[in-house]
Amino acid sequence: MEILSNRINSLPVSATLAMAAKARNLKEKGIDVIGLSLGEPDFNTPDFIKDAAIKAVKDNYNSYSPVDGYIDVKKSIKNKFKRDNNLDYDLNQIVVSTGAKQSIANVCMVLLNPGDEVILPAPYWVSYSAISTLSEAKPIIIPSSIDVDFKITPNQLEDAISSKTKLIIFNSPNNPSGSIYTEKEYRELASVLKKHPNIYIISDEIYEHINYGSPVFSFASIKEMYERTITVNGLAKAFAMTGWRIGYIGAPSWIAKACNKMQGQITSGANCIAQRATIAALDAPVRNIKFMIDEFENRRDLIVSLLKKISGFKINKPNGAFYVFPDISSYFGKKCKNKLINNATDFSLFILENAHVATVSGDAFGNPNCIRISYAASAKQIIKACNQIKNSLE
Ligand code: GLU
Repeated sequence: MEILSNRINSLPVSATLAMAAKARNLKEKGIDVIGLSLGEPDFNTPDFIKDAAIKAVKDNYNSYSPVDGYIDVKKSIKNKFKRDNNLDYDLNQIVVSTGAKQSIANVCMVLLNPGDEVILPAPYWVSYSAISTLSEAKPIIIPSSIDVDFKITPNQLEDAISSKTKLIIFNSPNNPSGSIYTEKEYRELASVLKKHPNIYIISDEIYEHINYGSPVFSFASIKEMYERTITVNGLAKAFAMTGWRIGYIGAPSWIAKACNKMQGQITSGANCIAQRATIAALDAPVRNIKFMIDEFENRRDLIVSLLKKISGFKINKPNGAFYVFPDISSYFGKKCKNKLINNATDFSLFILENAHVATVSGDAFGNPNCIRISYAASAKQIIKACNQIKNSLE
C-alpha cells in the first residue's frame, strides 16, 4: 500500500521543472520542441571557472566540506557582497548551500511556524509558495499586473500585513517578469516595513548581474532593514552554472547559525568541487561575464519586438533576468484550432502542442493572465519559436 505524507501529497510539482520534463519527453519522441520553459543560460560555464574545478579535483578536494562552506569561499562571498552590494557581512553571517533554492528553503524552515504568513508579491518564482507551505506557513499573494510593470505599491503591502505576517520574499530582477525595483521603490516599501519590526525579508538577488542598465539595489543596504533581511544569491544564472548547485546567504548571524544547523541535518556542506570553483567565479571582475549579459540584452530586444507582432499579446520590456511575461488573457474564451482556451495553462499547452514551443503558465507564478517565456536560448531558436507561435495562433 502506498501511503505518502500529507506534506508531499499537498505539495504541487514545480511547474518550471514539470514543463521542462514535458518538453524533454516530446523531444525523445522525435518532436522538435523549442524549450523556452526553463530559466537556464544556454552558455557553457566560463573556462576560468571550469579550470578552478579541474584543479580542485586534482588537488584531492574529495572530503566533506564544512556545513556552512569553506572559510575561503565565504571570504570571496564577503568580498562580493561588499564590492557589488555595499553590504558588510562577517563570515559567521554567511552560509553556502546547494543552490539558492536550498538557501531559501533553509531560511523558511528556520523562521516559520505553523500559521505564520508569508507575503509574496506576485508574480513570484514558483517555489516560494511551495517552500512556504512546506514550512507550514500560509502564502499571502499581493497581485500586480503588466500595466504597473508587475510591481506592488506600499499601500498594497500595508494592506497585506497582518499580525501573523512573519516574512516577505522580494525578488528583483524578478523571475518571471524581469522587472527591477528601483532604490526609491524599495525604500518606499521599506518605510512600510519599518512600522512592523517583527517581519523578516528575504531578498532574492540571484539575477542581480543580469540587468540591462538599471542598477540593482540590495534591500539589506537600507540601514533599518539590514538586521531583518536575508540576502540570497547564487552562481547558477550569472555564471551559467545551474547544475553546479551553489547558493549562499548573507543574514543576521542567528539566522545563519540556524541555517547551518538545518543544513547539517539535511544535506551537509555543498559540493566541494563546486565550492572551489565559486572562489574563481566570485573573485573575477564582473566584466568577465559581461559578454553573456550583452547577449541576453540583444535577445530581450529581439523577443520583445517579435512578440509585439503577435496579435493578442500584451508585453512590457523587462529590464533584467531572461524572461518575458506577456499577458495573453485576450485569448481566454476563444477557440484556437477548435480548442477552447480558458486560461493561461490551456494557452501554454496549446502552443506546446501546436507550435511546439515550451513555456510556463503564469498560474504557477501567481498571475493567471500571463505565460513565462525564457529567452535564454539562441537568436535562431527565438525567431523560430516566435514564428511558430504566431502561425499556430493565426
Ligand atoms: N529557477 C529556474 C526557473 O525558474 C530553474 C527552475 C526552477 O528551479 O524553478 O526556471
